[in-house]
Amino acid sequence: MKTAVISDIHGNAVALRAVLQDIEARGIDQIVCLGDIIGYGPDPLECVDLVQEKCAWALMGNHDFGVLYEPTNFNAPAEAAAFWTRAQFDAEPDEPARERRFSFLGSLRVRAVEDLTGDGLEILAVHASPRRPINEYIFPDDASDAPDKLEAIFDRVEKVAMVGHTHQPGVFSNEPDFYPPDEIGSDPVFKFNENEKIIINVGSVGQPRDNDPRACYAILSPGQVEFARVEYEIAKTADKIKSIPELADWLGERLYEGR
Ligand code: ZN
Repeated sequence: MKTAVISDIHGNAVALRAVLQDIEARGIDQIVCLGDIIGYGPDPLECVDLVQEKCAWALMGNHDFGVLYEPTNFNAPAEAAAFWTRAQFDAEPDEPARERRFSFLGSLRVRAVEDLTGDGLEILAVHASPRRPINEYIFPDDASDAPDKLEAIFDRVEKVAMVGHTHQPGVFSNEPDFYPPDEIGSDPVFKFNENEKIIINVGSVGQPRDNDPRACYAILSPGQVEFARVEYEIAKTADKIKSIPELADWLGERLYEGR
């Protein structure tokens, strides 16, 4: 069984639709979402509707939490975007649609443990970190600069975990080490190894930050994970962001560079 894992869509419906099309073309069995469906981007309602329709389940990210409850530890543009996003949900004139979206956001779990490949391997899924599921960042540099932090985080991982949050795809091993997709290979497919625990960062659909502007997601199949990149019409999303005064122009500009 194959499962597509998407994360950090951030209200970028153009990127999400491109990724969903790519997933469908590959004949993947199911899709799950690690959160941050909304926040930053111009199409929050459409993204929530698509995730609810297409994903088996979704988790709560810090931006979903920020829009639904309160933005915590957000910088000024992120906070302004959270309040604007909240206003879009509030402004929905169709009351059942408004209620459905709020109850969907309110139902998001912070963690899931599930066999996602059909081979009995239980995989832990969170938005941010196995230690602090909504807010802790696990940065690629932590593998070299903060081995104690990674060790404490790996203590909470049975075998394989999946995260998003930093928008930087790759695989952490409990060595500790970090392998970005371009170091894994041209495919790039990472094979699970019996002797190591891993944490897979699936990257970001709607706001990649690894200097590759293409939408990113991961495909789990028995014994391995593959990283997929999908081109989309960045200008459509960036122009829309520019036309909305409450969303900082930089939130669109950064999409062209993937940072
Ligand atoms: Zn995010």
